[in-house]
Amino acid sequence: MREAEGEGKYPLSEFERFFDVLAVRDESQIGREFGRGLKYLKFSPIIEKAFQNYYLHKFIWQIRFAVFAGILLYAIFGILDALILPEVKETLWFIRYGVVCPLGFLFLVATFSLNSESLIQMLHAGLVVVGGMGIVGMIYVAPSDRAHLYYAGLMLVVFYAYTFSALRFYYASLSALSVTLLYPLVDVYVVKTGTEQLIANMFFLGSSNVIGLPVSYLLERHIRRDFLLTMLLAFEKRKTERLNMRLKDISYLDGLTGVPNRRKLEEHLSREWDRAKKSGQPLSLLMVDIDFFKRYNDLLGHLEGDECLRKVAQEINRHVRSGMDLVARYGGEEFAVVLPETNEEQARSIAERIRNDVESLKIPHPASEVSRYITVSVGVATLVPEDNLRKEVLVSMADRALYRAKRRGRNRVETFTPTE
Ligand code: GH3
Ligand code: MG
Ligand code: MG
Repeated sequence: MREAEGEGKYPLSEFERFFDVLAVRDESQIGREFGRGLKYLKFSPIIEKAFQNYYLHKFIWQIRFAVFAGILLYAIFGILDALILPEVKETLWFIRYGVVCPLGFLFLVATFSLNSESLIQMLHAGLVVVGGMGIVGMIYVAPSDRAHLYYAGLMLVVFYAYTFSALRFYYASLSALSVTLLYPLVDVYVVKTGTEQLIANMFFLGSSNVIGLPVSYLLERHIRRDFLLTMLLAFEKRKTERLNMRLKDISYLDGLTGVPNRRKLEEHLSREWDRAKKSGQPLSLLMVDIDFFKRYNDLLGHLEGDECLRKVAQEINRHVRSGMDLVARYGGEEFAVVLPETNEEQARSIAERIRNDVESLKIPHPASEVSRYITVSVGVATLVPEDNLRKEVLVSMADRALYRAKRRGRNRVETFTPTE
C-alpha cells in the first residue's frame, strides 16, 4: 500500500478521494463546508469518511492502550473490594473479572480486525457504559452503609470517556451521560442511599460532565482542523508537483516540431551511454539533415520551411521504438536519433528507411539538386561504449558520417569509418 508522507500508514487513496471532492468545488463552498464541519463535528459524507479513517489511523493505538489501562485499573480495584467490602467481594469480583474485564478484553482483540471507525467508537462507548453499569451494580451489591464509597468510580469512568479513551465527542458524551443518568436511577429506585448523598454525588458527577464535554468537543474540533490542514497541504503539494512535472516536460520539448530538444537528447544519450557501458550492448546514433534546406527556405519562405521541419520530424519519429529510442531536434534542420541495443547493420537499415520515407512524403522542393522532393542525408555511428570513451565521440562520429553523405551527393546514408 502506498503511504502519505508523515502520516504513518494513512493510505494515499483517502487523499485521492478527498482531492476529487476539492477539485469540483470553489473556494467559498469549501470554506463554508469546512466551517460547518468543524462547528458540528461532521463533514459532508466523503470528507467525513476520509476523516474517520484518518482518525482511526492516528488514534487506534491510543484507543488500545486506553482500553488496556482501563481493564488493568478495573482489575486492580479488586484489592479495594477485599479491603472495604470483604463480605461481598465474590460478587464484586464476578462483576469485575467475570463480566467487565472479559468484555473489555474482547473489544481490545476486536480492534485488530475491525476497520470501521464508527463501529469501533460505538463498541468502545458501549464498553464505557458497561464499565459504568458494573460500578452501579457494585453500589447495588454493597451494604448500604458503604455503598456511597464506590460512586467515585463513576467519575473515573466519565473522565475516561471524555479524555483518555479517544472517543469522539458524540460517542464520549453519549456514554458519559448514560452512566451519569444511570446512577441516580438505580440509586433512587433500588439502592436508596439517601437524598443528601445522592444530591452530593450528582453534583460531582454532573460537574465532571460539565468539564468533560467542552474538553472533548474542543479536542475533536482541533483534530478535525489538523486533518483539514494535512489534507490541504498534501493537495497543494500534489498540485505543485504536477505543475513541476508539466514544466519539466515542456522544457524538454522543441517548440516548433514537438519532438524532444537538445537538452533532452543530452540526458537521454548520457543515460543510454551508461546503460550500454554496463550491458556491453552496441549503441547507435543517427544524424539526419535536410538537404538544401536553405534554398527551400529562401524560395518558399520560413513558414513553409517550418511546416516542412514538422513533417520531417514526425516522419522520423514514426521509425523509433517508444520508450527506448529517441528522436531529438539537434538544431536548425538537423535531427538526432538515439538507438540503444542496435548494431551498425540495424542502424543503417533504420537510417535507410528514414531516408526513403522522407522522400516518399513528396514535399516538393523546387531547388534541390538531388530530387524533386525534400530529402535527407543520414550519418550513422555505432559504438560499444568503453570506460575510456566519452559519449561525445559517438556524436562526432555520426557528424562525420553525415558530412560524408553530404559530400558524396546527399539523399543518402553513410556509416562512419575510422579511416576518414
Ligand atoms: P545541406 O544540404 O548541405 O544541408 O544544405 P542546407 O541548406 O540544408 O544547409 P545550411 O546549413 O546551409 O542551411 C540550413 C538552413 O536551415 C538555414 C536556415 O534557413 C534553415 N533553418 C534552420 N532552422 C530553421 C527553422 O527553425 N525554421 C526554418 N524555416 N528554417 C530553418
Ligand atoms: Mg541541411
Ligand atoms: Mg544542417
